[in-house]
Amino acid sequence: TAYVFHFGGGATSSEPRAKDKTIVGGKGANLAEMAGIGLPVPPGFTISTEVCTAYNASGKTFDDALRAGVAAGVSHIEKATGRTFGDAANPLLVSVRSGARVSMPGMMDTVLNLGLNDATVEGLAAGSGDPRFAWDSYRRFIQMYSDVVLGLDHHRFEDALEIVKEDNGFFNDVELGANHWQALVGEYKSIVEDQLGRPFPQDVHEQLWGAIGAVFDSWESDRAKVYRKLNDIPHDWGTAVNVQAMVFGNMGDTSATGVAFTRDPATGEKAYYGEWLVNAQGEDVVAGIRTPQYLTLAARERAGAKPLSMEEAMPGAYAELAAVFELLEKHYRDMQDIEFTVEQGKLWMLQTRSGKRTAKAALKMAVDMVGEGLIDEATAIKRIDPMALDQLLHPTLDPKAARDVLTKGLPASPGAASGTVVFDADTAQAKAERGDAVILVRVETSPEDIHGMHAAKGILTARGGMTSHAAVVARGMGRPCVSGASALSIDMASRTARIGNREIREGDVITLDGSNGDVMAGKVPTVEPELVGDFGTLMAWADKHRRMKVRTNAETPLDCQVARQFGAEGIGLCRTEHMFFEAGRISAVRQMILAEDEAGRRAALAKLLPEQRSDFQSIFEVMAGLPVTIRLLDPPLHEFLPHGETEFAELAEATGLGIEHLKRRAGELHEFNPMLGHRGCRLGITFPEIYEMQARAIFEAACDVAEQSGDAPIPEVMIPLVATKKELEILRALVDRVAAEVFAEKGRTLEYMVGTMIELPRAALMAGEIAEEAKFFSFGTNDLTQTTLGVSRDDAARFLNPYVDQGIYPRDPFVSLDIEGVGQLVELAAERGRKTRPDIKLGICGEHGGDPASIAFCEKTGLDYVSASPYRVPIARLSAAQAAL
Ligand code: ADP
Ligand code: MG
Ligand code: MG
Repeated sequence: TAYVFHFGGGATSSEPRAKDKTIVGGKGANLAEMAGIGLPVPPGFTISTEVCTAYNASGKTFDDALRAGVAAGVSHIEKATGRTFGDAANPLLVSVRSGARVSMPGMMDTVLNLGLNDATVEGLAAGSGDPRFAWDSYRRFIQMYSDVVLGLDHHRFEDALEIVKEDNGFFNDVELGANHWQALVGEYKSIVEDQLGRPFPQDVHEQLWGAIGAVFDSWESDRAKVYRKLNDIPHDWGTAVNVQAMVFGNMGDTSATGVAFTRDPATGEKAYYGEWLVNAQGEDVVAGIRTPQYLTLAARERAGAKPLSMEEAMPGAYAELAAVFELLEKHYRDMQDIEFTVEQGKLWMLQTRSGKRTAKAALKMAVDMVGEGLIDEATAIKRIDPMALDQLLHPTLDPKAARDVLTKGLPASPGAASGTVVFDADTAQAKAERGDAVILVRVETSPEDIHGMHAAKGILTARGGMTSHAAVVARGMGRPCVSGASALSIDMASRTARIGNREIREGDVITLDGSNGDVMAGKVPTVEPELVGDFGTLMAWADKHRRMKVRTNAETPLDCQVARQFGAEGIGLCRTEHMFFEAGRISAVRQMILAEDEAGRRAALAKLLPEQRSDFQSIFEVMAGLPVTIRLLDPPLHEFLPHGETEFAELAEATGLGIEHLKRRAGELHEFNPMLGHRGCRLGITFPEIYEMQARAIFEAACDVAEQSGDAPIPEVMIPLVATKKELEILRALVDRVAAEVFAEKGRTLEYMVGTMIELPRAALMAGEIAEEAKFFSFGTNDLTQTTLGVSRDDAARFLNPYVDQGIYPRDPFVSLDIEGVGQLVELAAERGRKTRPDIKLGICGEHGGDPASIAFCEKTGLDYVSASPYRVPIARLSAAQAAL
């Protein structure tokens, strides 16, 4: 097997591995693909990701096979370019680029202009006839190589450049001439020697291997690790290395470099979108050293900017680029994020990939592309990340609210965010952990800020364009972002910022509108999102393609309404105990609990009956005609006990019982391990009058709603924490008896079901027998995870994070179902339940019902529905469709 693959320069490879992203990485695969369809790609070769894994596992060594592969790769480039690596007269220069399976923007290191030394720089100058360009390239190379490969402090290089500029009264790097760059190269070399204790490496092969190793090392850097954790990228994927002939955007005014998207990544609008810089090299655009220029005339005019767009300044190269955009979109059938360079009027493609986009843009593009015939509905559905919908389901700024606009920047990532200002990533993280909403305000962001950006509600930068680090990362994370607010000046020493004559201090509240770039003082009110347009279209497609129903976990009429708007098709879990906590009721609940005997309990329950009935009534009204699963009382009674002297005093007053007596009774109810204690169906067995009252409330309410609206709800009465058939047998008989009583009183019969939760391993194992008594099973995967793993949900925070970090569990098992373990119990119970009762209804009501990976598992297991919290209902609808396709 080969581990090095050639591309460009007429290279043709029939090896399937050469096109496999898992082997050559995303960048390598797409470079080969572009070269294959005839686009101008500088020739190069790719070292596979497996080599990275082997390198990092073998104590960072290169083997002979790899050395031979790299030598062959270099001669491929030499042949294709007619230049020779290390040759003083006609030197070949290369870039060494990382490229993992999925793009990790800015996370990995790249070295440009490699192959320059004191001899080859002269050859480059003579060959190009442009000494300024040659020395500019050399100083770039020394700085980059020193930073990325040698690990030297980059500030000293920057300071040296600043001094040259100051001495000469220059403002911009482009003003420096050949002599300035040459002098600076001398200085850079002494900075290196000073820090490194030896001279800057002159041997080009040493340079190349150093850079290859550095790319592999960068996979293990802290920032790459953080990025992988946030994006669920496995650590063992590794990165490929791409070595590619350099093309030069810094060869004067007919040369340029740029980045572009084939459609607007923020809005999804079908318009080319990008930034470029004349006489510059790749990183310059993203790094925010000079303010980049607009790509198209339309964008420049809309922004009212002066510097010419590429469309105006280089019409020939621009037309060629636009043709490439069209070709690439048709080829990949998706919006592309492109990096290109123009060398003396000639266009070169350096990268293409499916572009990151906001949720809003993703929807618009998917719907538009179906309209354009580029993709079909199934592809559109699969292309949307369900979790990204979350961005759209939350409030936006109220258009009618007054705005105290401090300044305007670029609308880099849409959405609204309010919060207190912080000026660094660590503070952002610390404050967010305490529950504060924070806005991270920076001059510009770098990969070191990633944890703070994640912790922040929004990001504001003073510098950087729409493709700056802050903008790209914020869009990827779904954080609203305003970038390039140039009126903002930040003073880190006093931790304040100024905008004109107004001062912002750390801790002040500001609001960002990432959709138009407004930065506002104070908190601006928000409005609920609209669920129409592209969102509605895509959700309708999802509904058409899914098999499972989607219900919601809700117990208030308001939540039920929200969930129905989001498309819920019933309630999968209505927790009755939440109703017991309502003001005005808790006292009757406490009376019930603390009563000495059945008579005392019945008296208190009689007060609760009408309350509970009206709860169910309002829920049934919202859910008319749909199934509503109601779980009878589940938590241990001690959760309702009074706390502190005042609550006991109030209760004594209400019941006429003595405080001492109440306290003694409360003490009797104390449990050592209440989650495994007197709860769930165990309450129903020992205090049947509680479940009787609840069943009565349910059936009376259902009859009343049927009477009033004619649209009867379908109550599904659910008994929690069942472990044995006998428990369910007793309690089902109780519910059936109450139902019969109520139907007799009301003179009507309604359809209903009694079933159980499967949330104990024993219940899963005995599901065949339990199904004799249960018309439905609902997998209570929160408790099932807790009881199967022997991990208390409420105490797990202390060790689950380290567990996930060390890969003991791939993800938090309370967030994403432990399919390997807990999943087996679900499969087994479903199978055994169906064997006894072929038409048994199966659903899931744990948190996992809103998690895409868990939903895919539910589809595979053949469950009838998933149930998720109201705001997760659209996520579940889309995930269910993706799972079915
Ligand atoms: P990243 O993955 O961080 O985007 P890249 O490998 O794409 O890093 O390199 C960053 C930039 O360097 C590219 O956008 C491009 O402008 C420039 N670059 C990389 N390789 C070459 C090359 N062979 N010739 C000219 N510029 C290059
Ligand atoms: Mg790139
Ligand atoms: Mg439970």
